[in-house]
Amino acid sequence: MDKIAIAVHGGASENYSFLQEHQKEFEEGMAQAIKKGYSILEKGGSALDAVEETVAILEDNPLFNAGRGSALNCQGEVEMDASIMSGKDLRAGSVSMVRTVKNPVHLARLVMEKTRHVFLSGYGALEIAKKHEVEIEAESYFITPYQYEMYQTLNRLETLEDIQKKKLKGTVGAVALDMQGNLAAATSTGGTSNCLPGRIGDSCVIGAGCYANNTSCAVSGTGEGEYLIRNVVGHTISMMVEFDMPLQEACDYVIHERHKQLNGEMGVIAVNKHGDFGISFNTEIMKRAWQSSSQKMQIRLFD
Ligand code: ASP
Repeated sequence: MDKIAIAVHGGASENYSFLQEHQKEFEEGMAQAIKKGYSILEKGGSALDAVEETVAILEDNPLFNAGRGSALNCQGEVEMDASIMSGKDLRAGSVSMVRTVKNPVHLARLVMEKTRHVFLSGYGALEIAKKHEVEIEAESYFITPYQYEMYQTLNRLETLEDIQKKKLKGTVGAVALDMQGNLAAATSTGGTSNCLPGRIGDSCVIGAGCYANNTSCAVSGTGEGEYLIRNVVGHTISMMVEFDMPLQEACDYVIHERHKQLNGEMGVIAVNKHGDFGISFNTEIMKRAWQSSSQKMQIRLFD
């Protein structure tokens, strides 16, 4: 069998009690996502389909900060970002400030395939969703008790500094290699808790939180989006691999060394055309899982 590989992440962050209390459910969620993506690849499906469906599973899972379970901004609203990229032909689609769309990653794929643009936001993205009869849900569908509690807790904090110290975040993403040797990446998020309305993170920025190129690798990022954007994380890793740095080394260099000047919290998962993975983070934890034709499923939530 030609090599196939898939990795997913469910966000890099500090360790938190909700994760410890629901460890089993988080692990099950990661396993379910990997199984979905891997079964698509095993049947000869494309890396693009695999990352899209894998991310959609995590968007539907209320434990993760994407789709249902998204973080709330400082006005108590959900605004979501998502992106997808095909390494074969460098096509990409992104959406930002999306509300009521059940699976923003499906909408990102539609932007890529059904429009002449790469990136649509707000009402324009919603128009495309309606035109293509994408599933829509009431605003209340997206708000989980946990995220509502976070919103209330953060609103009680006195200063902006206190809120920033909490650094509450989370995101989901997937990278894959299919039997045809094609790479793809997808990322989706509810953003950072208590952010300003209209804030856009890295998850929908091609080259930052999502990048794929068959000549190098596919990357999905997580962490403080402001830093991933300024470090152009996904594309930088891809360039280093293009210039022959081993994938894991490139991920480590970008997350731990190159990034020192800015010092934000972040993590990445990546895969190359040989089915090798690169996984790196500078946060306390990163929820992650991976499987390939030469490695059975691995799931890690903590160290
Ligand atoms: N990167 C996401 C954002 O900044 C959040 C995260 O990954 O935790 O919107």
